[in-house]
Amino acid sequence: MEFKNSYLQGVYDTVQRRNQGEPEFLQAVKEVLESFEPVLEKRPELEETGIIDRIVEPERFITFRVSWVDDAGKVRVNRGYRVQFNSAIGPYKGGLRLHPSVNASVIKFLGFEQVFKNSLTGLPMGGGKGGSDFDPKGKSDGEVMRFCQSFMTELYRHIGPDTDVPAGDIGVGAREIGYLFGQYKRLTNSFTGVLTGKGLTYGGSLARTEATGFGLLYFTQEMLKEMKGDSLTGKTVVISGSGNVAIYACQKAAELGAKVVAMSDSGGYIYDEKGIDLAVVKEIKEGRRGRIKEYLEKVPTASYTEGCKGIWGVKCDIALPCATQNELDGEAADKLIANGVIAVAEGANMPSTPEAVQKFQKAGVLFGPAKAANAGGVATSGLEMSQNSMRYSWTFQEVDRKLHDIMVGIFHNAYNASKKFGDAGNLVMGANVAGFLKVADAMKWQGIAY
Ligand code: NDP
Repeated sequence: MEFKNSYLQGVYDTVQRRNQGEPEFLQAVKEVLESFEPVLEKRPELEETGIIDRIVEPERFITFRVSWVDDAGKVRVNRGYRVQFNSAIGPYKGGLRLHPSVNASVIKFLGFEQVFKNSLTGLPMGGGKGGSDFDPKGKSDGEVMRFCQSFMTELYRHIGPDTDVPAGDIGVGAREIGYLFGQYKRLTNSFTGVLTGKGLTYGGSLARTEATGFGLLYFTQEMLKEMKGDSLTGKTVVISGSGNVAIYACQKAAELGAKVVAMSDSGGYIYDEKGIDLAVVKEIKEGRRGRIKEYLEKVPTASYTEGCKGIWGVKCDIALPCATQNELDGEAADKLIANGVIAVAEGANMPSTPEAVQKFQKAGVLFGPAKAANAGGVATSGLEMSQNSMRYSWTFQEVDRKLHDIMVGIFHNAYNASKKFGDAGNLVMGANVAGFLKVADAMKWQGIAY
C-alpha cells in the first residue's frame, strides 16, 4: 500500500494500470495524490463526486505524425503530441516541448502538473501540454521552420484562443513560436492570440521572456522572507541549465543582491567564483546557440567540468534547478545539504526526484516546488492573453509588477494551505492542495459529463 487512504490507493492503482510504462506521469500523479490525504478527511464530498478519479484522466490526448523534409531532401518523421488535461477553469494552456526525450509519459506529466500550476496563478487557465521528439539541436532555421509548419498543420484543428493556447518550453523559443504562429494564421486566416511567447511586433507581451526566471526569484525572495526572516542579499546561488529559465533567474538573482557562481547545460557546468558574467552566457546561448563550456574563452579564470550532475557538488546557499525533470537526485540532495544549502526552488518542471524532496524537507531546507515557483511563465502568458483580447500592450514595468504580485500571492496561497491542512511549511502539499481545490470546485459545479 502506498497510500493510507484506500480511495486514493484505488485511484492510483487505476492510473498505474491505464498508464503502464509511463514513469514520469506516475511519479507526478503519486506526488499530487499524496498531498490529498489530509484534504479528503475534511472534504469527503471529493470522493463522492469522483473529482479525483476524473482529474487524473486527461480530457483529451492527441498524437499525430509530423513529416517534413530536411536540407538534404530526405523525408523525416517525428511524433507530435498535445494533451488537453483539464479545462474546468479556463481554456487549456501549457507549453510545447521539442526534445528527443519527449514521449507520452513526459507530455502527460507536464500536462497534469500544469493544471494545478495554472490554477495557482489565480488566472482563468486550464491545463495542457504538447510537443514532439524532434531535436532542434543542429538543425538549420529552414529545417526548424518546415518541422514547425508540419506540426501546426495538424495541431491547428485542436487549438484556438478560447480552446487551447500553447506556448514555449524546452526547445521552443521565439523562433519556433514565430513559425508556428505564421502557419496557424495561414491555415485559419485569422490573427488571434492562439499562442503565447510571441514576438513583440505581433502580439507578444513585454517581460514574457524574462517571466519564469524573474518569477522564480520573486517566489524565492518571499519564501526566504516569510519562512526564515532572510533575504537574497549576499547569498551564493547555483543554477542548473542555461536556457530561458536559467538565464533570467541568474539576472534577477544578481539584481536582488545574490551571486550566481555556477550554471550548466547538458554537457557540463561552469564555475566562476567571481559571479557568472551573464552577458557572456547570453551571447553564447541566445546569440549563437553555443555550448556553456565556451564561457572559458571569454572568462579564462572560470572552470568547466564535464557532466551536468556535478553542479550540485558546488557549495551554495540557494540551489535553483532550471534544466529538466529528475536532474537533482537523492545523492545530489545529500551534497547540497552537507554544503549548507538553505533553500531550493524549482525553475524546471519536477527537477527533484521524490527522494531528493524528502531529504530537503527532513533537513529543514526551504523547498519551493515547481508548480508554485516556476508559475511566473504561464502567469505572464495569461497576461499576454489578456493584452491580446484587449488589443492593448502594457509596459514592461506594468507586466513585471503584476508578475511580482502574482508570485507573492502564489507563495502565500501555498503556505496558507500547508498550515490549514496540518503541515505548515510543506509547500509541496500546500501548492498541490491550493491549486487542486479551485479546479475541484469548478468541476463540481459543472457536472459530471466530462
Ligand atoms: P531551454 O530549452 O531554453 O533550456 C533548457 C536548458 O536545460 C538548457 O541549458 C539545456 O541544455 C538543459 N537541458 C535540457 N535537457 C536536459 C537534460 N536532459 N539534461 C541536462 N540538461 C538539460 O528550456 P527552458 O529554459 O524554457 O526550460 C527549462 C525547464 O523549465 C523545463 O523543465 C521547462 O519545462 C521549465 N519551464 C519553462 C518555462 C518557460 O517559460 N520557458 C515555464 C515553466 C517551466 P542543452 O542546451 O545542452 O540541451
